[in-house]
Amino acid sequence: MREADARLVVGNWKMNLTQAEARHLAAAVATALRAQSANAEVALCPAFPLLGVVREALRGTNVLLGAQDLFWEEHGAFTGKVSGAMLRDAGCEYCIVGHSECRGRFGRSSYDPQTLGFFSDTDETVRRKFAAALQAGLRPILCVGETAEERAQGMADEVVEAQVNGVLLGLREDASRCAVAYEPVWAIGTGDVCDPDEAERMAALIRDVLERRRLQSARVLYGGSVTPDNAPALFAKPGIQGALVGGASLKVEQFLNIVKAA
Ligand code: PEP
Repeated sequence: MREADARLVVGNWKMNLTQAEARHLAAAVATALRAQSANAEVALCPAFPLLGVVREALRGTNVLLGAQDLFWEEHGAFTGKVSGAMLRDAGCEYCIVGHSECRGRFGRSSYDPQTLGFFSDTDETVRRKFAAALQAGLRPILCVGETAEERAQGMADEVVEAQVNGVLLGLREDASRCAVAYEPVWAIGTGDVCDPDEAERMAALIRDVLERRRLQSARVLYGGSVTPDNAPALFAKPGIQGALVGGASLKVEQFLNIVKAA
């Protein structure tokens, strides 16, 4: 099977787990997948301090390591930031870029709007991060998606198309190894999964943009409240070539059943 034919299932662990918990979860996933003849490609994206233990736990297995974010500069006086080269050196293959939580767009949030500016990614910073990830030899997973308000106003297509184009326009690096995850903001961490027909329609819209930019081999994923119960219906859609999984990736059985469905 060619890599591009295999679905990609990525676990986004977000800001969770201790070193011991991360080691245990990664080892449990990798061991179970070795026994299961899964056709899907699988990657785990722990928080930065956990990359080392997860790398060790995944050594010699088919499960790949990824990060949740990066900064676009290579090195220098950028306190608190992590470069693509550092992530490559830490063993990462993938890197999530432009997650809605990094853009300050939450499906459900009790945040005081005064603090939302802390989550400051914009289309421009996401574009820089995406290019830096490619430059460092990482495979970026670009997250795009509309809020509930944007959808209610009939703007979902426009927002998503602009987010993908904003990153790809003028890009000089070869982005054919990237993936784009359609992650409607209202579906992330809320339990409100997108209807599979609509997810497929949005995936087709993203695929059109990718094809116009000659990125046929890039995969289009769906993310937002994916569970073992809804995964089969989502994966029944040929245009959905994988999933970005948040909450359910922290539970071994749930994550494995999602991979099985893929
Ligand atoms: C995510 O954070 O990318 C995500 C899809 O989260 P969840 O599966 O918890 O909705």
